[in-house]
Parts: sequence; structure tokens; C-alpha cells
Amino acid sequence: MGIVQGKRALVVGVANDKSLAWQIAQTLAKEGAEVALTYQGEVLEKRVRPLAAQIDATVIGELDVTNDAQIESVFAALKEKWGGLDLLVHAVAFAERENLRDRFLTVSRENFARSMEISAYSLVALARAAEPLMEACGGGSIITLTYLGAVRAIPNYNMMGVAKAALEACVRYLSIDLGAKNIRVNALSAGPARTLSSSAIRDFHTMTHQVEERSPLRRGMKPEEVGTMAAAVLSDFSSGVTGQTIYVDVGFNIMGF
Ligand code: NAP
Repeated sequence: MGIVQGKRALVVGVANDKSLAWQIAQTLAKEGAEVALTYQGEVLEKRVRPLAAQIDATVIGELDVTNDAQIESVFAALKEKWGGLDLLVHAVAFAERENLRDRFLTVSRENFARSMEISAYSLVALARAAEPLMEACGGGSIITLTYLGAVRAIPNYNMMGVAKAALEACVRYLSIDLGAKNIRVNALSAGPARTLSSSAIRDFHTMTHQVEERSPLRRGMKPEEVGTMAAAVLSDFSSGVTGQTIYVDVGFNIMGF
């Protein structure tokens, strides 16, 4: 028996086999959950389908989180397939490459709004769509992924840090709204991991080296550690935990210098 045995999980944000969402999807499947994945556009569909096959996951449909019609259609498909939903993983973020380097001050109004919409508002939109399906199951558990740049000034993280601060606040407010329906909402604050998204951050290797040298565990975070923590927070073992930002960063966030 796995820790999420028989749970039905939607995982949003698998782009390739380096994606943190993929680590989470694999662990959930290993721990007994039925998993559904989405993809954004035809190129990613070609990458996501073979990954889904590896863990017997369903590819439930295309989902650009800025597209309300696609959100509606994915959750309608889930309702038809499963009748309800127990777990939701939101692992989606976006900032223009130019806003992940140099001066935060130069971000345009348009880029600021787009990053906030994709990286923070999308959690609200997905949680709202998930609410009736989770209610049908007597409750549910939602997680999103964030980073230390939400609460500390990290050079070059810039626009994404602002969006992650909003995301962590969304987690707290959503946890109040959904708690009465036994739906928990938490964020995992992961350490730096090499992925498609993180490759856009200037000097990303400095972030990883700092963690390896200065964290209490004196090594980098292993991506699979995000998968195992996600399964734990999503599972009923964490039934008393909601509204939290939980650090999976080999302890780096506690360091002063
Ligand atoms: P990733 O593999 O590139 O995943 C990011 C995902 O967001 C991709 O699947 C991407 O799809 C998706 N996305 C972007 N815009 C979207 C939209 N409009 N609609 C739907 N999906 C969209 O990178 P990752 O590092 O695993 O990122 C997953 C999450 O972990 C993000 O929230 C990230 O901020 C967070 N995180 C990452 C790190 C790290 O060091 N890697 C650390 C802490 C937190 P496309 O490729 O099509 O844009």
C-alpha cells in the first residue's frame, strides 16, 4: 500500500523528464495514485505522452493555464473519467527571459501582468475548477511549487520572486476558502534544480553552488526529494497541514550567511 493509494491526481506542469512535476508524478504513481497529466501545445504533447506511458498515466488534455476554455474542458474530462479528484499539483511558472536578469526595475507592465497571471493567478483558477470535484470526494489536497526568492531578494530571480510572493499569499487565502470543505492547500519551496524554466535565470549555477557549499546538509537538493515531499504533503499523513510553505531545500533557507 502506497501513501496515496487509490487517490486520483492531476499534475500540471510536466514539460520534460527534468520537470519537477515529472518527479512528483512518478512518486505519486509509485505510491499508488492514478495520475492524469496535461500538456501545453503540440510540441510538449510529444514529450508528455511517452512519459505518461511510463507510469500508466492518462493524458487528459491540453492546458494553457491562461485559457479558461481549456481549464473547463480538462476538469470536465476529469469529472467524466473519475467523477471526482483527490489531488492537484500546480507546477507552472513563467517570466520573460529578460526579466530573469539585470534590473527588476525595468520590467514592463505587460510582462509583470503576464508573469503574475501564469505563475500565481493560475493556482486560483485551477483550485476553483478543482473545488467541486474534490468536494465530491469529501476533500482534497493541492500543492504548488515556489522558491526562496519569494521571501528573500535573490539576484536575477527578479520578476519571478514577486510572482512567487503572490503565489505563497494565494496559498494562504485559498486554504481559508477551501478548508471548510476539507481541501488543503500548501506550497513546497524547492531548492534550485536544473530544468527548462530555471535555465532562463542568469547565473543559475551560482544559486546551486551556494546551496551545495553553504546549506546545512552541504549538498544540493535532489529533484526526487521534491517528489517524495510532495507525496507526503498531498497524502493523508499531512491531514493537519494547510496554508503552509514547506521548504525542501536541504535547509538552505535557515542560513544567515
Ligand atoms: P519546467 O520543467 O520548465 O516546468 C515549468 C512548467 O510550466 C512547464 O511545463 C511549462 O510549460 C509550464 N507553463 C508555463 N507557462 C504555462 C502556461 N501558460 N500554461 C500551462 N503551463 C505553462 O520547470 P520546473 O523548474 O520544473 O518548474 C516547475 C515549478 O517549480 C515552477 O513553478 C517553478 O517556478 C518551480 N520551482 C522550480 C525550481 C527550480 O530550481 N527548477 C525551484 C523552486 C521552484 P512550457 O514549457 O510549455 O512553457
